[in-house]
Amino acid sequence: TPHADLHADPRTGAAVKAADRAHVFHSWSAQGLIDPLAVAGAEGSYFWDYDGNRYLDFTSGLVYTNVGYQHPKIVAAIQEQAGKLATFAPAFAVEARSEAARLIAERTPGDLDKIFFTNGGAEAVENAIRMARLHTGRPKVLSAYRSYHGGTATAINVTGDPRRWPSDSGTAGVVHFWGPFLYRSPFYSSTEQEECARALTHLEDTIAFEGPGTIAAVVLETIPGTAGIMPPPPGYLAGVREICDRYGIVFVLDEVMAGFGRTGAWFAADHYDVVPDLLTFAKGVNSGYVPLGGVAISGAIAETFETRPYPGGLTYSGHPLACAAAVATIDAMAEENVVEHAARIGETVLGPGLRELAERHPSVGEVRGLGAFWALDLVRDRATREPLVPYNASGEANAPMAAFAAACKKNGLWPFVNMNRTHAVPACNITEAEAKEGLAALDTALAAADEHT
Ligand code: PMP
Repeated sequence: TPHADLHADPRTGAAVKAADRAHVFHSWSAQGLIDPLAVAGAEGSYFWDYDGNRYLDFTSGLVYTNVGYQHPKIVAAIQEQAGKLATFAPAFAVEARSEAARLIAERTPGDLDKIFFTNGGAEAVENAIRMARLHTGRPKVLSAYRSYHGGTATAINVTGDPRRWPSDSGTAGVVHFWGPFLYRSPFYSSTEQEECARALTHLEDTIAFEGPGTIAAVVLETIPGTAGIMPPPPGYLAGVREICDRYGIVFVLDEVMAGFGRTGAWFAADHYDVVPDLLTFAKGVNSGYVPLGGVAISGAIAETFETRPYPGGLTYSGHPLACAAAVATIDAMAEENVVEHAARIGETVLGPGLRELAERHPSVGEVRGLGAFWALDLVRDRATREPLVPYNASGEANAPMAAFAAACKKNGLWPFVNMNRTHAVPACNITEAEAKEGLAALDTALAAADEHT
């Protein structure tokens, strides 16, 4: 039976929690202030604890279980690969690895036909930057303030989100600029066209004053995710492409979160008809069943390393278990039309449903997104757009968002909450009924946020 684990022994749950408390050091947390849920099992869009509470996962883990939990084809492929060849070092041609690379290259836009495998997104960003620096012989990297690119040394410096602050070593050569974001426009624009034009002028001015000949790369999330799911205005990414071409700058699109179906396309770049020189991916490539990420590389950049060695690598690059999971994920997504489904559920259920909530709840300032990739920007006052909680809020100041999250959980929904936003980022194959169940839980929980308007 699918949810037999719902009746798992709560005493085991208590033991799991006690060992976690004693020995697991958690990410991004004050260790003494957290109380992680002990998870007994998961399937599809749901997971459950040892006390019989079941949650609809509107976070997809960390926005990565694009085909949900325990997809039978992926589980079987990992088991089969484990039986055949559980691991093998990167310097060999291995069937699962070459097949995963072929399937990924077939789907990435343009001539991004060579794949460098990593274990996750941050390592992909680190290597994309290294490739851009070696390809151009230039040191600097430009990235957006409203961005997240990973938690390792260079990736966290390139990140613009305030999570950068405690770790920021001020890495030489990382320069931040403002990307477009009409709702909280850094350029005081009132239309998409204005925002696009001003953001492009700002980028070009930044390049002019930093020195075009010193800039290796512009790194952007195609649709910034963690920082607020902000689809760029039409023409922006094409404009950045043109600017990069003019100055010989490598254009890196980070699709770690937006890639592999999340936006209702294989890659978010497909919506904008733009082809970067390097594209980073992770998460959805195999729904995170085994850690995997990578960089898809253009012909011109790959050519740089035809006769000159690429000075970078990872012991587990292209791990056979992770690659077998990627092959099975991509096959399953194609067979089950998951990408088309995500586009449709966004257009017909999530988008209209979230907009309808915004009409009734004064705390919702803006609804943004597409596919299975949506944000609600929560505000204290719709007229001023003052965020419901201050940016980088913590502790007491974040009580309204904590109350909202608690209300979601009480209603069987596991929410994504960051600063003043909640993101609706379920599995890309979420059913219509499940999506509606999530919207109903959000409806109830938003009342808790409304109290602070
Ligand atoms: N880039 C983007 C756009 C991301 O969303 C993330 C993770 N949220 C990363 C990079 C880092 O990926 P990882 O945590 O796998 O290192």
